[in-house]
Amino acid sequence: MPSSIFNLRVPLANDDVFLMNTLTDAQIIVSHDVAALLDAPFDLERLDGETRAAADLLIDQGFITPGRDHDRTALANYMAALTSDTDELNVTLLTTLQCNFACDYCFQGDHGDYNKFADKMSMDTAARVGDWIERELERVQPKKLVLTFFGGEPLLNLPVMYYLAERLWHATTRRGIPQLASIITNGLLLSEAIVDRLLPFGLKGVKITLDGDRDTHNRLRPLRGGQGTFDRIIANMRRVAPKCPIAIGGNFDDSSWESYPALLQFLKEQEFADRLVKVNFKPVVRAAAGDSVAVPTKKSLKGGLALTPVNAEGTPLKPLGGTCMTSAGEGIASTCDSCKSLDEQMTFLRDETRKHGFDTPDGVHNGPCHVHMKHAHTIGPDGSLYACPGFTGEKGMSTGHIDDRRDSWRQIVQDKFDRLSPWTSCGDCAFIPVCAGGCIAASHMTLGDMNTPACHKSTYEAAVVSLAQTCASA
Ligand code: SF4
Ligand code: SF4
Repeated sequence: MPSSIFNLRVPLANDDVFLMNTLTDAQIIVSHDVAALLDAPFDLERLDGETRAAADLLIDQGFITPGRDHDRTALANYMAALTSDTDELNVTLLTTLQCNFACDYCFQGDHGDYNKFADKMSMDTAARVGDWIERELERVQPKKLVLTFFGGEPLLNLPVMYYLAERLWHATTRRGIPQLASIITNGLLLSEAIVDRLLPFGLKGVKITLDGDRDTHNRLRPLRGGQGTFDRIIANMRRVAPKCPIAIGGNFDDSSWESYPALLQFLKEQEFADRLVKVNFKPVVRAAAGDSVAVPTKKSLKGGLALTPVNAEGTPLKPLGGTCMTSAGEGIASTCDSCKSLDEQMTFLRDETRKHGFDTPDGVHNGPCHVHMKHAHTIGPDGSLYACPGFTGEKGMSTGHIDDRRDSWRQIVQDKFDRLSPWTSCGDCAFIPVCAGGCIAASHMTLGDMNTPACHKSTYEAAVVSLAQTCASA
């Protein structure tokens, strides 16, 4: 019987082998002899004793299948079930594109075009967003509503965040389903009052970005006037941590990755360390001097939604170019947490994070990401709908509108997303069920084609080795 095309193998010490099947997510450690059953066809009826039991286990866990055609059909069924899954209605809300930071990687998207689109969601739009989400709750009948408040800096538009959290909490409560809300914030304005206000309405956590140790973070994520932000963020975390779990994200580059172990040590020594439920660092990738391939280029942002920089108190300054680069597109700490990871530093930092006692994604179970899910949406401040946060820097990539306008150009974009299947170019890659062809936003921005895979297989391979070692030592 043939071995599944979705099998991964990592040799371990003592002649053991870690086996993983990415389609069934089975993970087992077996002896070298058992793993060898995957190497050559055998007649099940002729096996007996322990060998038969081992073969039955491999079949049961999906490591041995009827053949390649079966595997391809199983993959197609898996993707179809996943993309149309109705368990969860997932909405990322960009309540504002204003930002009070001048992050190094985001500032490079700065451009002179003035933002002619709404940069802050009005209460009127928020009311229509609430209407749209309630219509979706009725139509989809999900088992839960997952809300993520994002921006720009979402804490610069508190009235809209409070209004939508409260309204949708009541809407979900009436339907007998939970609302799980979270905020992705730079942390500067985070307060106990904000957390207290949202906890009764389903706030489950806050994600804060720290780009390295104190000095490095202050260099990469300063205020517009150049002032550091690290101390104030940590002080805010200290205050809210007893009330609300915190996730940490971070964006590293060649100049900053070495500072992350010091950040991890610092976090480990804080009294709120046990409230840090997830720590996840990702690279910012720079293509050429001054340009980042991890974010929309100036060209791609032409006509896009512009971030509006504001000072620490929220007074508007000169416009920027796109959604917060903290969390959209490849290589950056993401709302979806699926964006690519691509180099040795990533593996090093994942290991360091674990060594310091923090939970971090394993780097294998990355996707398929929200862009493939029919019931995951990102909503811009003007009510435009997007397939994922990675496309909000480009108005022309909007797939619809909360007012259910029938714009032909949005329908064309929606059709493109409906037809997406970059993994069909990936042959028999064993990572397809967890990668699905990589980050679509990255493919669009860096390759100019959403259906061309943005492949980082070597990073997946390194992550599997790391996962195998973790399993072996558990
Ligand atoms: S396409 Fe990229 S940015 Fe969008 S959800 Fe997927 S991994 Fe994230
Ligand atoms: S993009 Fe690369 S790693 Fe991902 S499924 Fe395709 S070939 Fe495999």
